[in-house]
Amino acid sequence: MRLIMLGAPGAGKGTQAAKVAEAYGIPHISTGDIFRANIKGGTALGKKAKEFMDAGKLVPDELVCDLVADRIAREDCQKGYVLDGFPRTIPQAEALEKAAADLGTRIDYAVDIEVPDDAIVERMSGRRACLKCGATYHVLYNPPKEEGICDVCGSELVQRADDKPETVKTRLSVYHEQTQPLIDFYQGKGVLATVDGTLPMEEVFAAIRDRLGE
Ligand code: ADP
Ligand code: ADP
Ligand code: ZN
Repeated sequence: MRLIMLGAPGAGKGTQAAKVAEAYGIPHISTGDIFRANIKGGTALGKKAKEFMDAGKLVPDELVCDLVADRIAREDCQKGYVLDGFPRTIPQAEALEKAAADLGTRIDYAVDIEVPDDAIVERMSGRRACLKCGATYHVLYNPPKEEGICDVCGSELVQRADDKPETVKTRLSVYHEQTQPLIDFYQGKGVLATVDGTLPMEEVFAAIRDRLGE
């Protein structure tokens, strides 16, 4: 099964993508995690991506499209994958259509997690992230077992620099302008599955499973 997760920053894409990946035994591919790993590792890609990310802007399409095309061509993606944070623009969605078609495949589902803007700002202020394994937590809604420590890998949790309220506002306007048009794009392809992202995490996941029906 090949699917993408749509939704505003903080809608719960990463949280739900991790659950989907585990339940269906497919890799979870987060472009945000790939960029953050490159920044941490001091690579040329990381250096280019950082200025855009810190400003709450999108990294240019040419820095992300080939990277994803290569990633979905790898062995572990043969049975499917869940893309989290890609595509974010119409040109990226078109690049993905082509990359999937070149492999003789197609995107089966675009899951759109709907959360209103005012709920997003509150969610982001409580988000804590593990930069080592990509796991995300929330101080109130999904706290780690031990404060400040990742349940999965034991690393220290951090608040992402781009999760401060001013940057979240920029990211939300970028989302409305550049990413929201993808909802119509995938509706037109007949693969859109919309879920209410304001429900508790387990209920959101149940709704997604229901829509995927596999
Ligand atoms: P969130 O989980 O809040 O939606 P991500 O971790 O997916 O955020 O992305 C963090 C930042 O990384 C984005 O604000 C953007 O700068 C960059 N980024 C991630 N994926 C993409 C993409 N597909 N295209 C452009 N920029 C991206
Ligand atoms: P995204 O990948 O879309 O940016 P995340 O999965 O990182 O979003 O979730 C953003 C924040 O909101 C995290 O702190 C996460 O723990 C929390 N969160 C995710 N889903 C829910 C939910 N259904 N209810 C409450 N908080 C949630
Ligand atoms: Zn971790």
